Amino acid sequence: MSDCLFCRIAAGSIPSNLVYQDDQIVAFEDINPQAPVHVLVIPRRHIPSVADFTGADANLLGQMVDACVKIARQKGVAESGYRIVTNTGPHAGQSVFHVHFHVLGGRHLAWPPG
Ligand code: AMP
Ligand code: ZN
Repeated sequence: MSDCLFCRIAAGSIPSNLVYQDDQIVAFEDINPQAPVHVLVIPRRHIPSVADFTGADANLLGQMVDACVKIARQKGVAESGYRIVTNTGPHAGQSVFHVHFHVLGGRHLAWPPG
């Protein structure tokens, strides 16, 4: 989708600080980090939210989680711990409607979230 911010980041037409990419997935630094490590992991394909994944996306989902785990290792927070979060809809505060996993770490993360 040409008017989707994250599709444009995935295509390279909007700059980002890339952390990881392969044929299906792109990961980049969040522009407004909420923790010392805050990376967004997205599929290249436009999928609005987790609610839009289907059974046919099982491999893609596995690869996205795998990318999150690799990024946590790469960023040095595998041992200290990290959180993988995806916001869905208004009450969760989703602001970009191209599904993304936040990988947050590098500080103690409160629970439950606000
Ligand atoms: P959410 O609110 O869960 O939909 O998350 C959207 C995230 O995208 C927020 O954490 C924003 O800071 C982040 N964001 C928005 N625009 C950009 C951008 N151009 N580059 C990197 N991250 C962005
Ligand atoms: Zn998109």
